[in-house]
Amino acid sequence: MSEAVLVAEGLVVGHNGIPAVQDLDLTVAAGAVTTLLGPNGAGKTTTLLALAGLLPLISGRVTVLGAPVDHRRPHRTARRGLRLVPDDRGLFAPLTVAEHLRLAAPTPDPAREKAVLDRFPALEGVRGRRAGLLSGGEQQMLAIAAALVGRPKVLMVDEMSLGLAPMVVQDMLPAIRTMARAEGIAVLLVEQHVDLALAVSDHAIVLNHGRVVLSGEAERLRGDREQLTAAYFDGAGPRSAPS
Ligand code: ATP
Repeated sequence: MSEAVLVAEGLVVGHNGIPAVQDLDLTVAAGAVTTLLGPNGAGKTTTLLALAGLLPLISGRVTVLGAPVDHRRPHRTARRGLRLVPDDRGLFAPLTVAEHLRLAAPTPDPAREKAVLDRFPALEGVRGRRAGLLSGGEQQMLAIAAALVGRPKVLMVDEMSLGLAPMVVQDMLPAIRTMARAEGIAVLLVEQHVDLALAVSDHAIVLNHGRVVLSGEAERLRGDREQLTAAYFDGAGPRSAPS
């Protein structure tokens, strides 16, 4: 079994001391892809922020490569190799694609930039373009490519497909999975395109009203539409998918 890179145990986290996510356990292994699913307001973004050390935990514990995540020092977790691509993509509009990629590693790493660009060839032709002038799909590719240039051990992507054509999503999700497998990156996605996300994922977790209402192998969840829909919309269902 692969190494558990990202581990959350009994996670309770929220805003202004009010829990938005309760009792969440999660493990993502090296090279594996997990997707967090759930309706608006379920607590998906809150979970990612807590895992990245950007929100204080009310209780529970998060570790990245065995080291505890400390919200007072989130830069340490970033230095250990965790990258979060937020749903607003986190780009700098005046900087070009090439500048983003150059700044994404602690020291310029042209070989790595080339390896990542090979995975996202659409960026090659717009290297000199400012991020603010890219299409939504190109911006999302750049955000993910920049995160990958930093050779992450954990990559978390919040709502990658927001505002993108399904065809773009269809290309990008497999590219992320390929990188995860090839480089042993633990990937955690938050996605609204349930089928596309499950197709590239090993595991999936459905959150509803801040609680895990369903979790299991992505393939199994894909095969049980009824249970998945019930968990997603009604919050109904056992905590683990039936085997
Ligand atoms: P969405 O897809 O709509 O972003 P989500 O599953 O990511 O939904 P969260 O954004 O994590 O859900 O929100 C979980 C709960 O926390 C919601 O009830 C939301 O209103 C609340 N919340 C989120 N951000 C804040 C904030 N900054 N201050 C107070 N409450 C917040």
